[in-house]
Amino acid sequence: MQASTESTRGTLAETSSLRISETFVSRQGEGELTGTNSFFVRTSGCNLRCWFCDTPYASWRPEGDQMSIASLVESISDSDVRHVVLTGGEPLLPKESVLLCEMLRERGYHITIETAGTIDRQIACDLMSISPKFRTSTPDADQHPRWSELHEQRRMPIGTMQRLMEQSVDYQVKFVVDGERDLQELQEIVSQLDVPADKVWVMPQGISNEELDQAATWLRPWTAEHGFQYCDRMQIRWYGNRRGT
Ligand code: SF4
Repeated sequence: MQASTESTRGTLAETSSLRISETFVSRQGEGELTGTNSFFVRTSGCNLRCWFCDTPYASWRPEGDQMSIASLVESISDSDVRHVVLTGGEPLLPKESVLLCEMLRERGYHITIETAGTIDRQIACDLMSISPKFRTSTPDADQHPRWSELHEQRRMPIGTMQRLMEQSVDYQVKFVVDGERDLQELQEIVSQLDVPADKVWVMPQGISNEELDQAATWLRPWTAEHGFQYCDRMQIRWYGNRRGT
């Protein structure tokens, strides 16, 4: 019976696929696992359209080929890395992400899912890393009327975020702050999610060391004052703003 279940799953892994914009091994640059060597799987496609998106090749202009779940598991096995980060785009958008996570967890990998938390999907992982999108992330209504409306409708389903956190072993909530105008909404979201302050990570929006340094002068003290955790986007400091890092 078990052999037959495994064989069915093997067939499913060969026939199911995800559109992948890139895979790479790098250090995790954000949150509680900062510095951990990880295999990143970036799915292509997103249900939101943040104006500042730093991976437009996975959202505004999605790129990439379909890769079978079996081939992704094989690539990860070949890498000798035990932490896997499923990111995007929005990795919860394709249902096939569930099978990938199941197969990797069966093999003992630690799985982080980096999501905006807007897709209600039953999926198991070790660290659900939710990054709620502020109202200031919404694209310009004149330039992108359809996406502006959809983005605003979709960006903040609090109940969905809570369910995603409940079904994971651990979770963190990450906020990318663009300016002081985001801070009141940040506090409102934390209150609605009802999460402890030490699960909340605040980081500055910025794509250069100079921007990160400048933001840290006012954002780091504000974060400490509220008991939240502060983190730089270390991938920017380590590698600059470029793909594959
Ligand atoms: S949710 Fe993430 S991937 Fe999607 S548009 Fe916003 S920043 Fe880009």
